[in-house]
Amino acid sequence: MRRPAIAAGAGAVALLVGTSVVLAPAASSYPSTHSRQRCGNTTDQRVLLTFDDWNDADPYIATRTGAYLEARNIRAAYFLNGKDAARYPDIVRTLRAQGHYVGSHATGHRDLTKLSDAQVRAELADGLETNVLRPPYGSWDDRVRAIADAMGYRICTWTVSTHDWDEVDGSLRSTASIRGYWKSAPPAAKAAGNILGHLWTNYPAAVPGLIRDVHAEGRRFCRNRGPVPAAWPAVLDCT
Ligand SMILES: [Zn+2]
Repeated sequence: MRRPAIAAGAGAVALLVGTSVVLAPAASSYPSTHSRQRCGNTTDQRVLLTFDDWNDADPYIATRTGAYLEARNIRAAYFLNGKDAARYPDIVRTLRAQGHYVGSHATGHRDLTKLSDAQVRAELADGLETNVLRPPYGSWDDRVRAIADAMGYRICTWTVSTHDWDEVDGSLRSTASIRGYWKSAPPAAKAAGNILGHLWTNYPAAVPGLIRDVHAEGRRFCRNRGPVPAAWPAVLDCT
């Protein structure tokens, strides 16, 4: 089981300007509407729910959660560890058929900023057909971004971490604690928000409560409009 150790993207220096987020250094070839922290969600009152990594003990929690969200008319995004997703192509296919985007989380969950150029390229050549990358630990820099860009990936991080990976007194954080991180997030992070959680924690169990919390604030999730292709659009139509 992999425990992400850090939550902040080393290169993702965000400057809050009003309610929009400007990333420094400025994106080059990215669509102007794309925000790395939001994976293309531009709809203020809509939130993108995301699931990272893998669950070794229960791989199909990914698609069970996916079916639940589909039934709730919610479109989510999954960033699967490449080495695991390669063994379960049916899970990738099913998630997309359920209306959820699937992105790369690189192959072996390594900190890409600590690898050579050749090693970064090897980590990104994970065999998953997609154009969006969430670097492990949210860790990237200009060099990693340039390599990812050349390989056809946009980098995507998050606006609200649920800290679900963080153990409390030797146990995984409770669903109530996970929900607390959303509740206490600043409005600028909730607007067109992008929630980070993991498949191997209590986060999937927290999702029904998170949905209630988000709805209670008058926000909604990205609407599920049916199956999605491998490539993500630059702007997610969440309405
Ligand atoms: Zn991860």
